[in-house]
Amino acid sequence: MDAAVIAANAAISAVTAEAENAAARQPTAATAAVLRARGAPYALEAVTLAAPGPGQVLVEIRACGICHTDVGVQNYEQGLPLPQVLGHEGAGIVRAIGEGVGNVDIGDHVVLSYASCGHCGNCTDDHPQYCSDFMLLNYAGLLSDGRVPMQAAGGAVYGGFFGQSSFATHAIAYARNTVKIPPDLDFALAAPFGCGMQTGAGTVYNSLAPRAGQSLAVFGTGSVGLAALMAAVDSGCSPVIAVDINQERIDLALQLGASHGILSDPSRLAADLRAILPTGVDFIVDTTGIAAIIRAGTEALASRGQLAVLAVTPPGTEVSINPNLLLGGKSIRGAVEGDADPQVFIPELIERHRAGRFPHDRLVTTYPFSAINEAVADMRAGRVIKPVLVMD
Ligand SMILES: [Zn+2]
Ligand SMILES: [Zn+2]
Repeated sequence: MDAAVIAANAAISAVTAEAENAAARQPTAATAAVLRARGAPYALEAVTLAAPGPGQVLVEIRACGICHTDVGVQNYEQGLPLPQVLGHEGAGIVRAIGEGVGNVDIGDHVVLSYASCGHCGNCTDDHPQYCSDFMLLNYAGLLSDGRVPMQAAGGAVYGGFFGQSSFATHAIAYARNTVKIPPDLDFALAAPFGCGMQTGAGTVYNSLAPRAGQSLAVFGTGSVGLAALMAAVDSGCSPVIAVDINQERIDLALQLGASHGILSDPSRLAADLRAILPTGVDFIVDTTGIAAIIRAGTEALASRGQLAVLAVTPPGTEVSINPNLLLGGKSIRGAVEGDADPQVFIPELIERHRAGRFPHDRLVTTYPFSAINEAVADMRAGRVIKPVLVMD
């Protein structure tokens, strides 16, 4: 083919792609799991999803993990408007892009993470997880341009949860929280990278950054705790100690590389940790949010030790500590989303997974989308660690 024909063909395919995008950039018929009342089960409903606007991406969702934050919002008043579609660990295929979206294209396989503005002080300082508009962009129930994202037979349905609302066959996300993934990666394994795996692993790799040979304990071995534990093992931490109230979880933690497991009793926890490490633990990751457990952690820290708290605790939770416990250069800090920029960190986690260094597939149990209420019940009962819904 000569150059003129090649150029003509390229021009035709560009025009065709733009025409396809324009056709796809319309309101979309979708099925969504709608939460209509606090504590109610999800109901699968037909909805119409708004057309993606500037900076927005229409994603056909193929899998979505369930996170404890979804369960919290489903069951406890947190100020989110109802009815709403939750779900914030979506993975799928880009079907349309709005004006100005340059990082993904139609047909790309993607995972969705939390939304951030990109221009506040923390966003420009490479900490989008502490975006000044985090609540507005992730919890307001609307798209960032103020539109209501969905309509159902009963009227408006709120969404935009974590910049997505992925308990649905389709979602609108933003360029900044849509991360391209390899096309051969299983959507069910990709989805949990968007929140739970990023939160646990990022706390170790990014927030605490232990050196090989330093000690680390994880309090609570759910999906976030086990993600932290796998990252600690991968970082060469020693010993790596798993603390839980469930022996099966401790057994799994040991299989994933923990050197020690402790069945927790808050009154004995600090002593149990000091029996393993008489000078204290260098790093502790708390995923329980239980005051007595966090307090025991402060009693078990080594000099210059750090305790990271990750759980959203029920209103009224308070931890009393003796401030003298923090002398010796010790600190307690919080962390959101593993201090991770998803565009950078999720590709790194995928590489680690593929190299066998982050075997989070051991935590995943898949369910058909229609079994969402059963999946939530199984997670709450501790029967599964990371349920992932798979859309057909
Ligand atoms: Zn920001
Ligand atoms: Zn989450």
